[in-house]
Amino acid sequence: MIRVMVCGAYGKMGREVLLAVHKDQQLSVVGAVDKNSAFADVGDIIGAGKTGVTVGNDLTTVINETKPQVMVDFTNPEAVMNNIRIAIKNGVCPVVGTTGLGEAELNEVRELCAAAKVNAIIAPNFAIGAILMMKLAQEAAKYLPHVEIIEMHHDQKLDAPSGTALRTAELISKVRGDMRQGHPDEVEKLTGARGGDLAGIRLHSVRLPGYVAHQEVIFGGLGQTLTIRHDSISRESFMPGVVLACKKVLTVDGLIYGLEHIMG
Ligand code: NAP
Repeated sequence: MIRVMVCGAYGKMGREVLLAVHKDQQLSVVGAVDKNSAFADVGDIIGAGKTGVTVGNDLTTVINETKPQVMVDFTNPEAVMNNIRIAIKNGVCPVVGTTGLGEAELNEVRELCAAAKVNAIIAPNFAIGAILMMKLAQEAAKYLPHVEIIEMHHDQKLDAPSGTALRTAELISKVRGDMRQGHPDEVEKLTGARGGDLAGIRLHSVRLPGYVAHQEVIFGGLGQTLTIRHDSISRESFMPGVVLACKKVLTVDGLIYGLEHIMG
């Protein structure tokens, strides 16, 4: 059994991860942390009866008391780096779904992993379908380089654009390069109307109740458009990827960024 602890245990993703890890035959929930812990039993959070594992509010204490091998983090962009640093310092492998980490932070994690000889997996999207959407979008961009991205999420999401939208744009820019598209004299009458710009690709973020996580990558060509769309209609969609990462993280080499590197 691989010993797993979950950071952000009361969150929308954290609860789902606790349930998925609890149900898996090779994984065991040994600890949980949330900012405002009421020391609830994990079993009460996931409706599985008493487990004897309680939610703590201090990561170092929980690591010392429960000796996890893996820390899964679904918290927020402000908290995640500190959690990763504490985990690596204590020899615990982070599996991170929290989005909003930039290049500088990824480099820091890469260096910390190498120095401590601890592995980590960070994925802006743990849904298999979303990985396929990104791969297919990268392929399509070789033939249809004019592209815009619209991502739609629930209205409690803190960062915009989503980590998935940024990653999709990065992957597309690798094959089509930095390209100017649209009219050169375009004027924005309302600031932000044309969305964010990554290497000339426009990214648009929608935040509304009712959504979970969705993205459309729209390509335009002469007399045609092609839309590649992925919908996470429930948070269960991320769980096979998270469970896979918990199993693989002990044997990868240093930091792995992106679920595509451990699939298949
Ligand atoms: P959420 O419902 O707000 O849950 C986050 C939880 O973390 C909250 O209970 C929060 O407590 C807690 N928290 C905050 N700081 C903490 C700390 N220092 N230590 C421990 N717990 C802490 O958010 P969510 O919807 O679950 O999403 C969490 C993250 O996952 C977001 O960054 C989101 O973008 C990302 N996400 C990634 C994927 C993926 O596939 N990679 C999929 C979905 C979501 P408070 O409420 O008291 O602040």
